[in-house]
Amino acid sequence: MPNSPIRVPYLDLKAQYKSIKPEIDAAIARVLDSCQFVLGAEVSSFEQEFAAYAGAADCIALNSGTSALHLALLAAGVGPGDEVITVPFTFVASVAAVLYTGARPILIDIDPRTFTMEPGAIEAAITLRTKAILPVHLYGHPADMDPIMEVARRHGLVVIEDAAQAHGAKYKGHPVGNIADMTCFSFYPTKNLGAYGEGGAVTTSNAEYAKKVRSLRDWGQDRKYHHVLRGYNYRMEGFQGAILGVKLRHLEAWTETRRAIVSRYNELLADCGVERPGEMPWARHAYHVYTLRTQDRDGLQAALLADGIQTSVHYALPVHLQPAYADLGYRRGDLPKAEAAAQQVLSLPLYPELSPSAIAEVADAVCKAASRNVQIV
Ligand SMILES: *Cc1c(COP(=O)(O)O)cnc(C)c1O
Repeated sequence: MPNSPIRVPYLDLKAQYKSIKPEIDAAIARVLDSCQFVLGAEVSSFEQEFAAYAGAADCIALNSGTSALHLALLAAGVGPGDEVITVPFTFVASVAAVLYTGARPILIDIDPRTFTMEPGAIEAAITLRTKAILPVHLYGHPADMDPIMEVARRHGLVVIEDAAQAHGAKYKGHPVGNIADMTCFSFYPTKNLGAYGEGGAVTTSNAEYAKKVRSLRDWGQDRKYHHVLRGYNYRMEGFQGAILGVKLRHLEAWTETRRAIVSRYNELLADCGVERPGEMPWARHAYHVYTLRTQDRDGLQAALLADGIQTSVHYALPVHLQPAYADLGYRRGDLPKAEAAAQQVLSLPLYPELSPSAIAEVADAVCKAASRNVQIV
């Protein structure tokens, strides 16, 4: 079947830029005038504003979400010989960052209702080497943090959240960034709060962790050219701080728009034979992506593309089945809920600028294709 021209793209970054162009262009001009290209005043003020947004005492701006995970783990003292409990159903960076420190990732299964860490699986994975727990707020839905924090406190473990997809998410009314010991964000351009380049941050209310992350991002210096820690070049650029400062002022409105689009999708897809994403009663889902489940995912994706609707899959292979991570020692069947999700999830176009007619077109195409799929089965 030949693919038709794209009617609805999976993402449209240009539409958002156009909607805030004067503010962004002015912010970029300020950085050019100041010549503060790395860190600087724009990055510092973004740090303050984002800390407040995330309900944390401090925010350390970095050059990526991966760097945020790496430095949070190092600040927690994670290193060779340690174990960190995390999930396989995530972007590889959550697991890779643990390996960067020399520690071993221990993967546990997910709760299929939220696609996030199953708290009931933590206790059995704890050993004398366990140092930290790293839940991932996948798709923007927070993991069930109370039982995670409870088991961590009982065993003296640090909790580091991967909130790369969860800016603006809340757990029992608390913003993500206000619950665990450290929270890691990504500002990759496609994220809910996206830079125009790479970016990331750690938020924390622990002054010791904040100090360590801040030092490690800039070569472990306590003063110029005096290195007390073996650090990294993980600094945020001035342009990104200025751009993120502008975009942060729009984030709440964008998140509300995402949530309204999701409600509309949920209505339109109610009787179409696909499983719609859920939101736990204690959660404010930030809807980084709208992910449905279906038996014939690849068939549905192909049918939608043939109909001009671009979709995406997050993620077709859980980390433990990725070739690069085969030596972690897991096999197919070890983490069945993550593996089943990986075969069935499909993400529909979702961005604040998505028009009502595009939403209707997507939903219509899904219903048509899904009803055909059901007949084939
Ligand atoms: C995007 C992402 C990361 C990595 O962030 P980068 O800024 O691309 O380094 C980590 N974890 C998850 C869940 C992500 O979605």
